[in-house]
Amino acid sequence: MNNTDQKLQTIGDRIQATVQGIQVNHDWWPCRRGCDGCCRQLARPPELTQLEWARVDQAVAMLTPTVRAEVEHKIDALLVQIAENTVGQYVVCPYLDENSGACLIYDSRPIACRTYGFFVTRTSDLYCKLIETEVNARGDHIVWGNAEVIDDQLTRLAGEPISFKVHYIED
Ligand code: SF4
Repeated sequence: MNNTDQKLQTIGDRIQATVQGIQVNHDWWPCRRGCDGCCRQLARPPELTQLEWARVDQAVAMLTPTVRAEVEHKIDALLVQIAENTVGQYVVCPYLDENSGACLIYDSRPIACRTYGFFVTRTSDLYCKLIETEVNARGDHIVWGNAEVIDDQLTRLAGEPISFKVHYIED
């Protein structure tokens, strides 16, 4: 693991500490491999830093040939939608196993996938409506992670995000 990978790992470890801090007192929290609500409702095709794309590419390359072919088919289909300007309101992540609801590259998933459901910004509501509903119903006090701090750290480490189209077609 090189120095930059280690820093990405360090951000991931910090996120995991916050995640565990929330989960330990809230065993009902839904976020885990197999909860795919957010994976089926991306606001747009993934936009990741170069480091994250490299990690995703490595993970996809490690899939079995059959599964990798399915993922590549979904990537191509999404690229066609982008080219034809027919991307829907929600995007199903191409790295999701839609049958099991599990992320196929879970250990290499992007930073945003790790923070979603546990981190919030000062200016926006909770992102996951399932969690928002549960928290409101239970009246729980949650010490959320600060998404802006993580975004700043990631940008300083790895630069601005690169779009799905640029990564797969122009990179
Ligand atoms: S990379 Fe994995 S965890 Fe992230 S949205 Fe896609 S399927 Fe879900």
